[in-house]
Amino acid sequence: MASAAHPPGRVPADREPPASELLGVRVHHVTLDQAVERVAALIASGGPHQVVTVNGAMLVAAARDPAVRSILSQASLVVPDGVGVLVAARILGRPPFVRVPGVELAERLCAEAAAAGWRVFLLGAAPGVADDAAEALRRRYPGLQVAGVHHGYFSDDAPVLVQIRAARPHVLLVALGFPRQEMWIARHRAALGVPVSMGVGGTLDVLAGRVRRAPAWMQRAGLEWAYRIAREPRRRWRTAAALPHLMVLALKARLRRERGKDLNGQGC
Ligand code: UDP
Repeated sequence: MASAAHPPGRVPADREPPASELLGVRVHHVTLDQAVERVAALIASGGPHQVVTVNGAMLVAAARDPAVRSILSQASLVVPDGVGVLVAARILGRPPFVRVPGVELAERLCAEAAAAGWRVFLLGAAPGVADDAAEALRRRYPGLQVAGVHHGYFSDDAPVLVQIRAARPHVLLVALGFPRQEMWIARHRAALGVPVSMGVGGTLDVLAGRVRRAPAWMQRAGLEWAYRIAREPRRRWRTAAALPHLMVLALKARLRRERGKDLNGQGC
């Protein structure tokens, strides 16, 4: 299922970008620019589409849990967010990926939304955070239409669905944490009818100025995950444990594949 790496600008945005299979999840070979173009094409096509920014911990969860795997495999676009994805691709002998950080994709989509007139809805994070994120986004991208916001600490989905449907956004950014946000989008995608919905994890906290991203040098070195673990070791220990686990799973998958090839070779 692996395909050739995707040179910038080669594949028209109205066609599905090439993808490689990593532990049962198809991850698309796109750059940040190509991801934005693809989302624009998905919006133009009407949807409802789900966009996933996948990291190593999510690949491990998908390998363990068929429900998570099934949701990720129904997404229209799965972008490689996180160095774990790059490492897994390397171990599995897939073409290399370029990282597309979820927070950067969300920012670029808001910039594009301001230019193209797409309405954006922000759902998730603690009360007040989505409002502050909306304010910051409107300042940064004049003309941006934030069609609505709602915090992420609700137990009844129904009123939230009514509010989102009434706002008729083109893009819904959902910050409920993985896997709740991916499950929530998958469950309500059809009823919401929003062209593109994307899980964004802690992005609203960053946009609202409540949480800082890692310093630029750590981002460049692919160490953003280490920064997060260092800041919140108790909350992030699962992420820390996921990386070695991911490497073991990828190695096992590769060995299984090679053993399969050997057996087929003997049979000839
Ligand atoms: N969150 C929420 N409702 C919940 C649990 C979490 O809105 O019931 C929010 C939380 O406030 C934060 C985001 O979801 O803004 C999760 O951020 P995190 O960085 O933990 O995302 P992850 O990287 O774990 O997906």
